[in-house]
Amino acid sequence: MNRVDAPVGPARLLHVDPARLMQRLGALGEIDRKADGSCCRLALTGADRIGRDMVVGWMRDAGLSVQVDQIGNIFGVRQGREDLEPVMTGSHIDTVATGGLYDGAYGVVAGLEAIAALDRAHRSTRRPIAVAVFTNEEGVRFQPDMMGSLVFSGQLPLAEALAAQAADGAVLGEELVQIGYAGVVPCGQLRPHAFVELHIEQGPVLDREGGVLGAVEDLQGISWQEVTVVGVANHAGTTPMNMRMDAGYCAAEIAVFVRALAERMADGQVATVGSIRLSPNLVNVIAREAVLSIDLRNTDDTRLAAAEAALARHLGELAAAQGVRVSVRQLARSAAVRFDPGVLAVIEGVARDLARPIRRMTSGAGHDAQMISAVSPTAMIFVPSVGGVSHNPREYTHPEHLELGANVLVNTLIRLSET
Ligand SMILES: [Zn+2]
Repeated sequence: MNRVDAPVGPARLLHVDPARLMQRLGALGEIDRKADGSCCRLALTGADRIGRDMVVGWMRDAGLSVQVDQIGNIFGVRQGREDLEPVMTGSHIDTVATGGLYDGAYGVVAGLEAIAALDRAHRSTRRPIAVAVFTNEEGVRFQPDMMGSLVFSGQLPLAEALAAQAADGAVLGEELVQIGYAGVVPCGQLRPHAFVELHIEQGPVLDREGGVLGAVEDLQGISWQEVTVVGVANHAGTTPMNMRMDAGYCAAEIAVFVRALAERMADGQVATVGSIRLSPNLVNVIAREAVLSIDLRNTDDTRLAAAEAALARHLGELAAAQGVRVSVRQLARSAAVRFDPGVLAVIEGVARDLARPIRRMTSGAGHDAQMISAVSPTAMIFVPSVGGVSHNPREYTHPEHLELGANVLVNTLIRLSET
């Protein structure tokens, strides 16, 4: 083993084995493959177990020490020269019911290929390198999504996660035992020095720009609310305009308000009323009730909170002015995340040394990395998705982009491990 590694400059960049990267993605994809080509490895099913066993086998073949924590997250760790907190990468291998080959699995397989590249080059790293597989990222059978990384980062109590129940009555903790992944390592014990998640974009931006890479600098915070307006149903012809308590009118007014709010804020704030249900929903009856959804997003949490507050104030004023009752139910709320500038700079430096273009971007989807960022400096690398298609058997990323992303990953891990 080298005592002292020379700095990793352009001349010392490592490269992964693209053939095995593709072959392993294919092998995971063959598990429970459906007739239409879609992958269906729902979390904590038999298919998930087969996929986990496959990945753990690869970890053991690579000589990694394998740990499973109490929520079933798997970690394969390659020793460093010093007994320090590891630099961690990884993602998830569960899919939605109609998943593709790459969402999640790519980040795990590429992490293992990064380690294989280190081994081939007989390269040691100062810090250990860990590859993580997080439990139930997709949240299809059991909610919430990103569960493994939420528990790992202390943002969801373990007991609550283990008690999660599927629509079919299954209890998560029992399923974890059933598939053999109820580990004993306390969640969060293997604290990362830094975390990097490599993932397909699942959107069209990088593909449209000709296949550049993405350095993901932030994730939007999301606020979903359901607003119920209750007025009085009455005759559309005989009720004077100034005597109406019209829930339908109020719903429309709220939709106009949130649109104007987003435009007024002009700071990346977006606002959507995607659903309005009126009752009785008849042509000649003033609506008694309106139930509408409001989706507010911003990459700045303070601004998102300001949008929520402005909406709440407006709903109060509207209720008073129109004589209706307005109630609000929060359906979801996730905080905006800003990734670590230091980790981003390392990613961009590696891309520069590989002479490949990379651009800063915002992730429109949630990822395990957003949870890990609460406990460790974190950033993400995106590779292009052809047509932006994901959660779909047609999900596709060109092999050269898969290889390139993995090459950026391995050299990023090496540089972070020296810090
Ligand atoms: Zn994913």
